Parts: sequence; C-alpha cells; structure tokens
Amino acid sequence: DLEERVFNFAAGPATLPANVLKKAQSELCNWHGSGMSVMEMSHRGKEFLSIIQKAEADLRALLNITEDYTVLFLQGGATTQFAAIPLNLVKPEDSVDYVVTGSWGDKAFKEAQKYSKSKVIWSGKSEKYTKIPSFDSLEQTPDAKYLHICANETIHGVEFKDYPDPKNGILVADMSSNFCSKPVDVSKFGLIYAGAQKNVGPSGVTIVIIRKDLVGNAQGITPVMLDYKIQAENNSLYNTPPCYGIYMCGLVFDDLLAQGGLKEVEKKNKKKADLLYNAIDESKGFYRCPVEKSVRSLMNVPFTLEKSEFEADFIKEAAKEKMVQLKGHRSVGGMRASIYNAMPLAGVEKLVAFMKDFQARHA
Ligand code: PLP
Repeated sequence: DLEERVFNFAAGPATLPANVLKKAQSELCNWHGSGMSVMEMSHRGKEFLSIIQKAEADLRALLNITEDYTVLFLQGGATTQFAAIPLNLVKPEDSVDYVVTGSWGDKAFKEAQKYSKSKVIWSGKSEKYTKIPSFDSLEQTPDAKYLHICANETIHGVEFKDYPDPKNGILVADMSSNFCSKPVDVSKFGLIYAGAQKNVGPSGVTIVIIRKDLVGNAQGITPVMLDYKIQAENNSLYNTPPCYGIYMCGLVFDDLLAQGGLKEVEKKNKKKADLLYNAIDESKGFYRCPVEKSVRSLMNVPFTLEKSEFEADFIKEAAKEKMVQLKGHRSVGGMRASIYNAMPLAGVEKLVAFMKDFQARHA
C-alpha cells in the first residue's frame, strides 16, 4: 500500500522508486506471460537473458558506456571488490595509490594491502573526513598502477565533484553511493564499481565497469568468482547470478531513462540537496553540517544538533511522522539523511519543515 510507505532516509539498503516496486509487484508471479516469477527462471533461459541484456543496454545508455568497457553484474558487494581490484589489476609487488576521504576508502586500502604494495597518498582522517584534497597537492607514487578514490563517502558525506588524473596508471572509483545519481565521464576511469543497494536496486548485485584492456591479468591466487576475465567471458553468468536483483536494477535503469536520463536525475538531486543544506546553514547554528561546502555530497547529508541532548528526540519524533532511519552512522553520531535518487522531493520538503518546527520548539 503506497499510502502506508514511509520516507526512508537510510544509507542503504535504501528506498526504491515506488513505481518500480509497483511494476515488480505486478510482474511478481508471472513475468511477461512466462508463467514464472523472475526468481524461478533459469539464468540461462531466453527470458532471463533478455532481462540481463536489457539491464546492461540501459545502463550503457544511461552512462554512455562505450564498447571499450565491459559491464559485469557480480555478487559479494563492493567490499568484495576491495580485494578483487588489486587481485585483477596488479601483481603483489606493484605499487598502487589510495586517496582516503572516509571510512570506505580506508577499508578499500586495507584490503588492497594484502594483494599489492598499496599506499595512502592522502587521508582526511585528521580532519574527520570533511574534505577532498586539491589534486595538485597529491603526491602520487611514480610507478603506481592505479589511483583509487571513493567517489562519495556514504558515512561522512564528502563527494568528489571532479576527478584527479592518475600520473601513470588508471583511475579506479568506488561509486557505491552515488552511482547513476549524475552523469559521469566513464572514459576517465579504468574501473568503476558500485554495490546496487543505494541508487539502483536491492543488495546482492555489484556492478563493475572495467576497460577491456585491463581484463585478463588476474593474480594466480584469484578465486574464480573474482576473476573479471572469467566473469566477462561468461557475461556475468559463470555461476547462478543474483537474478532477481539484476531484474530490479533493470527496472530502475529503465525508470531513470524514462525520467530523461542522468542529467535530469542530477537536477532533481541538486534541488533536494540544496533544500536540505540551505535549511541546515540557515538555522543559525542549531543544525550543523561539518563537511566543507564545495564537496558536500548530493546523496548523504550528515548533520548534528548544537544541543546534542535533543538528537534522540529528533530521530524519534521524525520517525513518528514517517521519516525513518535518520540516525547518523555510529562512528560519526548525529543525524544523516540519505537522499538518493528514489527519495522524492516531497520527502526532503517534509524533513525540512520538520527541522524548522523542531528548531522552533527547542531553540
Ligand atoms: N563503499 C561504499 C561507498 C559504501 O557506501 C558501502 C556500503 O555502504 C560499501 C562500499 C560496502 O558495500 P557492500 O555492503 O555492498 O559490500
């Protein structure tokens, strides 16, 4: 029942578009007259093949992905990619660089240490991950095979608005929490990866977009499931893939195209983010967002209350008004509103109205 749905500000798994859920509901038991649910189909049958092929074609259209790139639908979450990336792209003795702008970049770096000579060339930790470095200041390792960034740090709310040029190697980006939220020039990257569960589908699907010439160099110890060459040769069907999740991603891609593509999606996201950040900045310090203004995320908005003793009340009262999952990550505290593609403007408007009212009652 759509009337009973809440505004879900969770960082992930996150809200999905209501129209997409309705469509999935209408196709749940009998997909396109096949007499089967997508959950019951052979992943090698013509029905599912048409689903995964359309999902890939629509994603390619959304991001203008050329034939120089392979698109993979994998499992194991973005966390598995933290290991798969060095395992596929470099040898254990190779240098790789990590720019660490938050907890996810740090986790990616730590995993890469096991399979490469990885180095943190910039960390925002001492400034509580509120900044993105100036690209000129980055001291890249001359022979680094790749430069890894987390395009949007979900916990800290810092987002790259532009991308650094790697000196020698290639640029690798974790786009888990801003994937398909705006246009991206894929040709700048050697590899982009994203867990689906924020902007494009349910958890269980991980998307990897990799330049074709980088496929086929996996270390000998690489598990078969993590080997991009094997996954690419088998069109992501080496084993049983997360069929239903891929189907849901396909419905979301179709919906994003119907909205006019990622330029239109970005406009909507900017409008929502501006509304919320302005409310925070205009609250005369009652609410604060610690992130440097120029790199504030359009997706994840962390904020605190000047009177932190009221934070629990804020979260409780908001939930009563059907605005849920506003508690900040345990490592940061305060509040966090995740406003991914599927959060309607009405949800942000309601939150801002609530914030103003809460301030009036507690100032
Ligand atoms: N990277 C980022 C930016 C994330 O936000 C997350 C999850 O929230 C992850 C990686 C880990 O993703 P997964 O849970 O799919 O492994």
